[in-house]
Amino acid sequence: MEDWIGHARKELAAAGHRAGGARGEVLELLGRQSCCLSAQEIHDRLRAGGRSVGLASVYRALDVLAQLKLVHRIDVDGTACFEPADPSGEHHHHAICDRCGKMDAFEDPELERLIDDVAERLGYAVGGHDIVLRGSCPDCARGPAR
Ligand SMILES: [Zn+2]
Ligand SMILES: [Zn+2]
Ligand SMILES: [Zn+2]
Repeated sequence: MEDWIGHARKELAAAGHRAGGARGEVLELLGRQSCCLSAQEIHDRLRAGGRSVGLASVYRALDVLAQLKLVHRIDVDGTACFEPADPSGEHHHHAICDRCGKMDAFEDPELERLIDDVAERLGYAVGGHDIVLRGSCPDCARGPAR
């Protein structure tokens, strides 16, 4: 999502934040992700790439990005995970396995239409929604192989 990085830089600048240092590193890394990462995973990947960015700086960078709605925050097993929020509103949702932690992403236009209908019925101007399916993935639901 090259354009996400450009978009995020513009939004940061407009809000008076500089996109340098740790924030810039987090931005570049997230821009190459299609799905979500925890602060710890972002930190580990930056370190693995030879960047000396502290975990606290990663958290601070994510806070700013979340405040500006530049990232989606998804709760995976009690851990906050983040993925780039496409400025077009294009997005996907997740199914998470409670047993092994596997995560799948899915998109569903029909689901999006239904949510719009509900919002209209409620009279809410809805800016976003969170949907996470939790349970057992196909492998875990099948149980241990015999
Ligand atoms: Zn995702
Ligand atoms: Zn599983
Ligand atoms: Zn949706």
